Amino acid sequence: MDLLEFQGKQFFATFGIPVSDGRAVDTVPEAVDAAEAVGYPVVVKAQVHVGGRGKAGGVKLATNADEVREHAGNIIGMDIKGHRVNVVWIEHASDIDQEYYASFTLDRGAKKHLGMLSAEGGVEIETVAVENPDAIAKIWIDPVDGLTPEVARAWVLAANLDPRATEGAIDILTKLYTAYVEGDADLCEINPLILTPDGRVHALDAKVTLDDNAEFRHEWGDYALTQVRDEREEAAHQKGLQYVGLDGSVGIIANGAGLAMSTLDVVNQAGGEAANFLDIGGGANADVMAGALEVINNDERVKSIFINIFGGITRGEEVANGIVEALSRVTIEAPIVIRLDGTNAEEGRAILEPHLSDKLQSKPTMLEAAKAAVELAK
Ligand code: GDP
Ligand code: MN
Repeated sequence: MDLLEFQGKQFFATFGIPVSDGRAVDTVPEAVDAAEAVGYPVVVKAQVHVGGRGKAGGVKLATNADEVREHAGNIIGMDIKGHRVNVVWIEHASDIDQEYYASFTLDRGAKKHLGMLSAEGGVEIETVAVENPDAIAKIWIDPVDGLTPEVARAWVLAANLDPRATEGAIDILTKLYTAYVEGDADLCEINPLILTPDGRVHALDAKVTLDDNAEFRHEWGDYALTQVRDEREEAAHQKGLQYVGLDGSVGIIANGAGLAMSTLDVVNQAGGEAANFLDIGGGANADVMAGALEVINNDERVKSIFINIFGGITRGEEVANGIVEALSRVTIEAPIVIRLDGTNAEEGRAILEPHLSDKLQSKPTMLEAAKAAVELAK
């Protein structure tokens, strides 16, 4: 799960990483009280699960109560990239001499942790990676070895930070690595990591993604409360479907997680992009199929639907009957392409036959069905 900035800072603070004193509030009067408590000048910061808040007007400096009122009033309720701001974080403002970037994440390909450090922080790291990749010092850390003091020092020197930042950066990066590993995070990012005019290194922002599989060994209850689910995912979750929302235009329904994943690959191979991952599980009866179709039908991104079913224990004719009944219950906007194979596929296709039209096609193979669905989505 993704943490809000202030939660990420609380998480960092438990590992000894220096962060500014602040308060999370959700009303303007509370924002003023918080500013008085932490001391002016303060920064009023929108708390949403997206970056780029500064550019969107969600990070403002305030030197007195009137300015806090003005900025908190503007920021609470603001929409940032589709995320409504319900909470603002009021923190004591820092003086900034330089802004750096630091992060740890997992490089699955390398089977190692990847550390990135750059003297060009503050801006989006994706931009630095494209325009000036040499400005990012990368290290790959074997989880068995961990981040040794020697490696941490060499890494910091390779990043060409201001020499005044060297010791502070080594200290923070060592703690950040511990937070990342012991805290069971998939991502720990500080952008900007700042050097203050008096030579201190300090985390001014926090982006943390925790590994949900490790929840059982932590107290993450408060973090879970502020999670926002994609509306589509929420609807699917309530129907007990295994669903992940994506950004493409081909809606996917498949039985079995492996087949659903292969279906995404084949749609890509056919030149399209999936709007979702949806595994309806082993059985494909009318109720489950109707529920799946409803979820997909409500997704504005979907321009065509690819139903990919391989009958195993579930027989082809059961699946076909389920699909026919589901289609009689739900009015589907987008054209559907079905690929039905496996046990009793012939019988199943015969049942579908009288229902076929421009809006409901049947294809014998996965690739042909994917091509047809991608074509229809264009
Ligand atoms: P983001 O835009 O969502 O990544 O939000 P950040 O927390 O990174 O803030 C954006 C920018 O606001 C930073 O890069 C800083 O330049 C500026 N900023 C944030 N906090 C402070 C602060 O305490 N003092 C000053 N002077 N600038 C700040
Ligand atoms: Mn930032």
